[in-house]
Amino acid sequence: MDLNQENLVEIRRDFHRFPELGFQEKVTKDKITSYLKGLGLDVYCGAGIVGVLSIGNGDKVIGLRADMDALPIHETNNHNYISKNAGVMHACGHDGHMTMLLGAAHKLATSANFNGTIVFIFQPNEENGLGAKAMLDDGLLENFPIQEIYGIHNLPGVATGELLTRSGLICSSESLFEIIIKGMGGHSSMPQLGRETISIGAELIQAIQTIISRKMASGSGAVISVTEFITDGTRNVLPGETILKGDVRTRHPDDRQKIETYLNQISRGLASAHDVDVEVTFETEFIETINHINPTETVFKTARDQGYGFTNCEPMSFSEDFAHFSNIVPGCFFLLGNGTEGLHSKPLHSSNYDFNDALLPIGTNFWASLAENCLSAKEY
Ligand SMILES: [Zn+2]
Ligand SMILES: [Zn+2]
Repeated sequence: MDLNQENLVEIRRDFHRFPELGFQEKVTKDKITSYLKGLGLDVYCGAGIVGVLSIGNGDKVIGLRADMDALPIHETNNHNYISKNAGVMHACGHDGHMTMLLGAAHKLATSANFNGTIVFIFQPNEENGLGAKAMLDDGLLENFPIQEIYGIHNLPGVATGELLTRSGLICSSESLFEIIIKGMGGHSSMPQLGRETISIGAELIQAIQTIISRKMASGSGAVISVTEFITDGTRNVLPGETILKGDVRTRHPDDRQKIETYLNQISRGLASAHDVDVEVTFETEFIETINHINPTETVFKTARDQGYGFTNCEPMSFSEDFAHFSNIVPGCFFLLGNGTEGLHSKPLHSSNYDFNDALLPIGTNFWASLAENCLSAKEY
């Protein structure tokens, strides 16, 4: 298929039909490589795909980033481009993100109305927070000295094409914790002979709730959710081991550290009170996504110039792998409304969500205008 402004819908639906999970984006990478080569870009294939477009003698280099991976979700839609890869679905709209960035590459390569270098970044495995880091480890910034970086995500439930972003924190961090309580199981009729762990697990879940309500400042935006409760007990056997797993979101690295400390303190205190052992692990998958002032102003300026509706929004409670890029290079991550009706309003990661094709030309044009604003052709 050729890449042009007329067949973006077809390209998006083709990505949608053949979704691939994080770090398995083989067919997707092949397609992107072929589209970018077709435009005459220099293309580099490693952990992700990088396409480079240089015009004029300007030495400014910007990065525009899209994500490529899908989710392990069984699609329940019944449109004619439903996923053909069983149990895998583009339920976060990365099919649309790739297409908008390809559309922008086409537009910018055709109009050549800028002076400098644009690095088109297609990253793998955003959903598990590993893809941006893989590209950085692969030498992305050493090989392509990007001075500013930008990323788009669609947002269901917001008017199509409405732009939302803010300077400072835009997305929360995500950390995963696991607490293993080890005692001694035994006969369910004689709990006094062992040190069962299920009731301690229940007590611990309640105690963890006090971290947000009693230990954090009001309005911190931090969230702790215990999401799994696993024991080795059975019908008439008290468990000797109970495992709690969960997820923590914060808006500030200090809060993340505080929560890790309290999780340890409360778990050890309760374990000691009940004479059992405990192990706590806490791993941060996604750091906080911080938008820098100048790139954010360029995004707002582009929105204003191009007549887009835009909102200086509140921070989001979800997390974004883009954080790893903007932690090193000044950047701005922004959201574009996916629409307020039908499949376009369904939450991200739901089996009946769909990316809004009406957003393709809007996002494509926004990318192109943003790049032209960053790399103004005036000094050319
Ligand atoms: Zn997602
Ligand atoms: Zn996503």
